[in-house]
Amino acid sequence: MNVHESEKLAGILQSRGYLPCQNVEDADVIVLNTCCVRETAETKVYGHLGRIKSQKKQGAIIAVCGCMTQQPNAAEKLVKRCPFVNIVIGTFNQPRLGDYLDRFIQTGTRVIEVWTSEKDGDCAESTSPVRSSGINAWVNIMYGCNNFCTYCIVPYVRGRERCRPIDNIVSDIDSLLSKGYKQITLLGQNVNSYRYMGKTFTDLLKELESDTKYRLKFMTSHPKDISPDLAQIISDSKVLSHSLHLPVQAGSDRILQAMNRHYTRDEYLAKISSFRELIPNIGLSSDVMVGFPTETEDDFLQTLDLVERVKYNNLFMFIYSRRSGTPADTMPQLDYSTKQKRIDRLIKFQFEISKQLALGAVGHTAEVLVSDKDGSKCYGKSETDAAITFESDSAQIGDFVRVKIVSAKNANLTGEVV
Ligand code: SAH
Ligand code: SF4
Repeated sequence: MNVHESEKLAGILQSRGYLPCQNVEDADVIVLNTCCVRETAETKVYGHLGRIKSQKKQGAIIAVCGCMTQQPNAAEKLVKRCPFVNIVIGTFNQPRLGDYLDRFIQTGTRVIEVWTSEKDGDCAESTSPVRSSGINAWVNIMYGCNNFCTYCIVPYVRGRERCRPIDNIVSDIDSLLSKGYKQITLLGQNVNSYRYMGKTFTDLLKELESDTKYRLKFMTSHPKDISPDLAQIISDSKVLSHSLHLPVQAGSDRILQAMNRHYTRDEYLAKISSFRELIPNIGLSSDVMVGFPTETEDDFLQTLDLVERVKYNNLFMFIYSRRSGTPADTMPQLDYSTKQKRIDRLIKFQFEISKQLALGAVGHTAEVLVSDKDGSKCYGKSETDAAITFESDSAQIGDFVRVKIVSAKNANLTGEVV
């Protein structure tokens, strides 16, 4: 999501005549797109700013935007700590970066402006993004979040859900496909709650069916809102990837309730089973957090147990990080070493599962969409989102190639063209 936001910021700069450069030393304008979902990302911003200050050329303009500045007092703190930053804006007025740049260049006075909501309210995609992810194009279908999971800062810094008009999304995707993009990834904090003029997420997916060969993915799905007919739609589709990212966050009902997630482990597992029934080879991924306030050893074991039962192909694992202003920040906290030990155990546990799944894939055939090539070495992902490497002189980036998986080293798969 943040990567795509940076692509949009680059689009604004490009429309003003700026070109990308490789080194901070050469830049006339430096824009830092920040994130505050976890504390580590936030701490890094000040480190980066310190480095930029010493490396930038005289007169280079520095702008800071993204969700970090959107937190209470964050912009004020930044302005005080970093007097060399020229522009500070928030998530809602980010599409106007170009106007703020003009204003700073004309007046020479610092621009510090953070809005608390969008002003145009139409989720307009202001400028064409400078796309940087090869054959894949990200497309926002909605912004913001209404869920208020107790650990999460997103609803506070990105506001309530706003859905883009379905026709705009469809025409954006038609145009991307005609430009040759082979994969489209729909973006939203909770794509399953997409609604526009009575149309739902599954209606949108049906409109995106096509005889043009491409791969359609989406993220993120929320287990409480995922529609029961989605499995059927994926199974029937010519374009949808046979993969699902369904963040569970925790395996203990007590913790799930304290997180305000609105599902139980059994409900989650039942949803996973219904997807596997219709799409037996579905690639599953998830986000899991350890060390949420009050998490006991038993709660953590329930998370391990759920991870073992599901056998995710890919798991994003996080240590719970306190976010000021969220309900979980006021709950009794765990000490750092308990959290660290649990994440180490979870990472080892999942590593074994990934290894086993990779070994189990040997002998199977997959359709790989080539996303990168180095000499004759091709890299890409299968229809179930498994990363596969294979050798081919003729295959090109953007090709769909049938490959037989011949070996697995840890979680890495190697294939041969069939
Ligand atoms: N909307 C998505 C993802 C939002 S943020 C969802 O509902 O799943 C991406 C991931 O960051 C989350 O899934 C969660 O696992 C993690 N995350 C969010 N807040 C966090 C926090 N305070 N500490 C650690 N991880 C967090
Ligand atoms: Fe955060 Fe929960 Fe919204 Fe995801 S659904 S963005 S975790 S509040």
